[in-house]
Amino acid sequence: MAVSDHVDIEKFMEGVKKRNPGQTEFIQAVQEVAQDIFEFIDDKEEYHEAQILRRIAEPDRVVSFRVCWEDDNHNIRVQRGWRVQNNNAIGPYKGGIRFHSSVNESVLKFLAFEQTFKNSLTGLPMGGGKGGSNFNPKGKSDSEVMRFCQSFMTELYRHIGPDTDVPAGDIGVGGREIGYMFGQYKRITNRWEGVLTGKAIEYGGSQMRPEATGYGAVYFLRNMLNHKDDGIEGKTAVISGSGNVATHAAEMMTKLGGKVVTLSDSDGFIHDPDGIDQDKIDWVKDLKNNRRGRISEYADEFSNATFYEGERPWHVECDLALPCATQNELNEDEAKALVDNGCIAVSEGANMPTTLDGVKVFHDAKIMYGPGKAANAGGVAVSGLEMSQNAERISWNQDRLGDMLTELMEGIHGKCVEYGDQGEGYVDYVKGANIAGFKKVADAMLAFGVV
Ligand code: GLU
Repeated sequence: MAVSDHVDIEKFMEGVKKRNPGQTEFIQAVQEVAQDIFEFIDDKEEYHEAQILRRIAEPDRVVSFRVCWEDDNHNIRVQRGWRVQNNNAIGPYKGGIRFHSSVNESVLKFLAFEQTFKNSLTGLPMGGGKGGSNFNPKGKSDSEVMRFCQSFMTELYRHIGPDTDVPAGDIGVGGREIGYMFGQYKRITNRWEGVLTGKAIEYGGSQMRPEATGYGAVYFLRNMLNHKDDGIEGKTAVISGSGNVATHAAEMMTKLGGKVVTLSDSDGFIHDPDGIDQDKIDWVKDLKNNRRGRISEYADEFSNATFYEGERPWHVECDLALPCATQNELNEDEAKALVDNGCIAVSEGANMPTTLDGVKVFHDAKIMYGPGKAANAGGVAVSGLEMSQNAERISWNQDRLGDMLTELMEGIHGKCVEYGDQGEGYVDYVKGANIAGFKKVADAMLAFGVV
């Protein structure tokens, strides 16, 4: 029998830091979860004995590989690719692929770790994984992107499969990249199977998948507000990012009667005091998806808007904030600015966009704060539904999937309230998401014994 002399959280985190030197994002993600889990398992001997959290915080495997490709000028380029398979206790590994210059092992390990909790929260049978490369698609031609995607898949295909690991998109990976990768997988294996999600409708994609992350983040926000007998109508929202998540969050926010006043990219943000309505959102979608332009061009097109170079939108006055760009894009000072300016709720469309210090500001101010692993889970949830449709060789219609997304987000919100309700009307959504996400994975792992 193991000794039940529990390691405390400080010792646990010391070990995580020692085993993952320099992996700051991964350590940050584990730290954020560990606090709540240690509290939850304090009186639950079985989780301690089985070392469950220690095991979830050690990826099942990290595959790293060389990706060679030739650019349009016939230069040979070498990138690194990864797939982090974090945990498959409750289903095949599932999570996106990110192509961005900032990608490294730490970033992908944090994302795969977060994904494990997020996927569990959806209630669907999906484990957690993430992959990507430090390839930067910005400024690359379509043929360069195609050659890179083909080369990337030529190694990745050995590690994935519809019952093993099902990647999808993430930053820098959208419909175009998924198409190139799916085509290469099919060519190598001679199998048409649901090995990737986020596919186009013509070849097995799901209705609502492009919209799901952004719409879901707004539904989560609506659920938080409704829980306090409030709503979105008439409120002003600040949104960061201008990709798939941000534009669809802006779309749903506008549909529900909110007014969106900002969008951003890595060059800066635009502030449009008139509100970014559906026509303007369509213009941004076209700018980003087809013309592959920069958000600064918005201010040239719409004269009342201003572009703030090199800045982030968190100092703009608002009721609601949706960080939909990337990790650590909202720090302590910016969180304070939001709270001071009267922001009452934050719903994260991105993964871990708020720093640990920033999260503390939201907690101390007791505003509604929906962490990414709960608020942006709509995307992967509809990916799960895409897997089901592929397996059954059917496709459901838009209305059905829209209803399912709404229900899934309600379910996730409900689980957060179940485990995060602190009384007096305050819900700690981080705690709720962490505990609910953990419990399902942990109980499955207990059933398997020591594996
Ligand atoms: N990359 C998205 C996420 O962070 C979607 C993953 C998926 O659909 O598998 O959840």
